[in-house]
Amino acid sequence: MHELSVCQSLLDQVNTIAAEHHATSIEKIFLQVGPLSGVEPELLQSAFPIARADSIAAGAELVIQQMPIQVRCKTCHAETAAKANRLLCGECGDWQTELLSGDELLLERVEMLT
Ligand SMILES: [Zn+2]
Repeated sequence: MHELSVCQSLLDQVNTIAAEHHATSIEKIFLQVGPLSGVEPELLQSAFPIARADSIAAGAELVIQQMPIQVRCKTCHAETAAKANRLLCGECGDWQTELLSGDELLLERVEMLT
């Protein structure tokens, strides 16, 4: 399962952070996930308990913040919301847009006990 390997690399990052801060346990893991990241938040949540077993985050909660899709138009410079399969400018409808948000798969922060 793709989401399980995502969880495992997430926990690798968390382990590194925990070691840097001499943490004894991880309480909460805050993750930002966008619709274009290729990861399903629900699958991530169900894979997490498998991935976290026997790690420093064995009792941790995974908090997923779902990010909106936002684009900036190269023609009229408006910043608008867009749909995953239609990254068009919400103002003028131009297709020449730049993605501002929506492809995140980002470890935002970690709450830990030290
Ligand atoms: Zn535009």
